[in-house]
Amino acid sequence: MDITTGKVRSALVVGGGVAGPVTAMALQQAGIAATIYEAYDGPADEVGGGMGLAPNGFEAFDAIGVGDAIRAVSTPMNGIVLQSWNGRRLATFGTLPGLDPTRFVMRSELFRTLRQAAEARGITTVHGKRIVDATEDADGVTARFADGTTATADVLIGADGLRSTVRRLIDPSSPAPQFAGTAGFGAMVRDAGVAPTDGMMIMAFGKRCFFAWQVLDDGTGIWFVNLPVPQPLSVNEQREKGGAHWLAHLKQVCEGDATPAAQMLDATDPEAMLFTGSTENMPTNVVWSRGRLVLTGDAAHAPSSSSGQGASLAAESSVELARCLRDLPLPQALARYEELRRPRVERIIKETARTNARKAAGPVARVVRDALLPVMFKMTKPEKNAWQFRYPIDFEAPVG
Ligand SMILES: Cc1cc2nc3c(=O)[nH]c(=O)nc-3n(C[C@H](O)[C@H](O)[C@H](O)COP(=O)(O)OP(=O)(O)OC[C@H]3O[C@@H](n4cnc5c(N)ncnc54)[C@H](O)[C@@H]3O)c2cc1C
Repeated sequence: MDITTGKVRSALVVGGGVAGPVTAMALQQAGIAATIYEAYDGPADEVGGGMGLAPNGFEAFDAIGVGDAIRAVSTPMNGIVLQSWNGRRLATFGTLPGLDPTRFVMRSELFRTLRQAAEARGITTVHGKRIVDATEDADGVTARFADGTTATADVLIGADGLRSTVRRLIDPSSPAPQFAGTAGFGAMVRDAGVAPTDGMMIMAFGKRCFFAWQVLDDGTGIWFVNLPVPQPLSVNEQREKGGAHWLAHLKQVCEGDATPAAQMLDATDPEAMLFTGSTENMPTNVVWSRGRLVLTGDAAHAPSSSSGQGASLAAESSVELARCLRDLPLPQALARYEELRRPRVERIIKETARTNARKAAGPVARVVRDALLPVMFKMTKPEKNAWQFRYPIDFEAPVG
């Protein structure tokens, strides 16, 4: 800690997903030394699945100079079409004027790119370090890891995801993620046997499940399903039943909907199926900081996984946290960080929780939804949602 200014000089960043490396790089750019401590023994580069990165996320990545590296491993999406079970188009979302398109990236590529960028800047990631406790005093904060080792710095940043341990250390009564009514499945298919979708992702509110797909010009297809389930379904429970079981089940559930689900499920290798467990919403009444401990990314605020905003918001918050720590002494820095970030992330979380409810709709709600959605979308000018996708960050500007 700088004795004259009260500003932090060093940080322990817990978690090596998206928020961890972004925070560490932003801190370095702010003149604060950071080390990343990740629970897993090695890089999580093989973690499967794809994700959309919104233009606001790229503003944060650009602020720390990694935007182009992520653009190089991702592809632009022209937009999203929402349709009903019978193929009726409910709404189309193109790229908003003046905004870059959302880009599609394989999660493994995003993790690899961020990890390599951090490494290239001399930032150390220590693997096999699962935080279990933290103690603080006037001189700093000490993290204790499951292997019995410790590390000390001026501040400890919890970038340890949806099931954050640091969140519990800050507030033992902090809320847990809440089951959102569906379970997730997906896959990438080499030869989908379905017409290319012209850069669009098509999302169908089917009669019994939500099915989304995109087919690239080379025939490669991506699909994912949100299947309404009566109670939480863990990834392990999904795995236990195996890919072949779920492919057959999903085919049955998607039957009768005007989608290419049957062809794409048939073309899927059961071994290559991706299970993502239950969809969950994170309550917003999380305490973000206490003393020298503070949260970023999903640990602080997780919109539902289908929002397409989780990683982007994680990057935004991580960069903003670094700016606050650069410009203000500790208690004020964390207060300003929360003041800058909470209203925006909570507004997005609220919006996306509504979308999840539409996916798990029962027969009556489905009829109402299909009747109302086109009207709602017609009445809502697309520009009205532009606030979500714009978040310019001037890294050098003082946070005030
Ligand atoms: C199925 C699915 C689809 C999604 N699709 C999208 C999408 O299209 N677009 C989008 O923007 N977002 C999407 N998301 C959300 C996105 O993945 C998250 O918002 C993002 O990964 C958050 O980054 P993070 O760094 O906060 O957390 P994570 O990426 O979860 O990283 C947390 C890290 O902390 C580590 N860790 C955990 N506990 C400890 C501990 N005790 N000690 C040390 N380390 C620990 C973990 O191993 C992990 O590496 C999706 C999520 C899911 C599940």
